[in-house]
Amino acid sequence: MFELPPLPYDYDALEPTISAETLQFHHDKHHKAYVEKTNTLAKKAGLDGRPLEEVVREAKKRGDQGLFNNAAQAWNHAFFWRCMSPQTAQPSGALAQAIDQAFGGLDGFKKAFAEEGEAHFGSGWVWLAAGADGLKVISTHDAEDTLVRDGLFPLLVCDLWEHAYYLDYQNDRPGFLKRWLAEVVNWSFAERQFAAANGQGEGFRFPQPGAGQGRAGETGEEPRPAH
Ligand code: FE
Repeated sequence: MFELPPLPYDYDALEPTISAETLQFHHDKHHKAYVEKTNTLAKKAGLDGRPLEEVVREAKKRGDQGLFNNAAQAWNHAFFWRCMSPQTAQPSGALAQAIDQAFGGLDGFKKAFAEEGEAHFGSGWVWLAAGADGLKVISTHDAEDTLVRDGLFPLLVCDLWEHAYYLDYQNDRPGFLKRWLAEVVNWSFAERQFAAANGQGEGFRFPQPGAGQGRAGETGEEPRPAH
């Protein structure tokens, strides 16, 4: 059984960019529901006890759309929480160099990411991913993710479903993306993912089934702030 991983920060930690109300609904209702449905459907499919990454890929392979949608959404949201932090900074080191190469600098990346997210029709996700020939910005529809795309390693993602921003921004997805990029991106997480993409350390993994509290099995763990 998978457990809903706790948010790595308090509900109000990303205010005013993302309200506590949005995070409560998004994590405690939406994400929770995806995890619970994954547990039910994975059991039916005989995949219970397997790591979530395997469940996502296997569901895709079998054409089990219900399981795929829920399992991928469970994974995407756990990854998305990690992509945000109350302490945003600038990318540095190898990631900063790769961003310069691919986008001509951080502003070029932000422009590409915001444009991709704004242009994406309907629900989905916008990603910064490492590929064999450098960094890329892509978007995926509904629950689709980079786990089922060969040769792409995810560094960052932003949720484009309306539930991610509607309470705070209504229909202003461009406004949400602009502030998300400026105010809450967890660049140190993206740097660890980029190192893992290059064979240094392990990338993010969803907590293993039955690991308890969702802490074990994750890499790049940041201490939860004391309060
Ligand atoms: Fe969402």
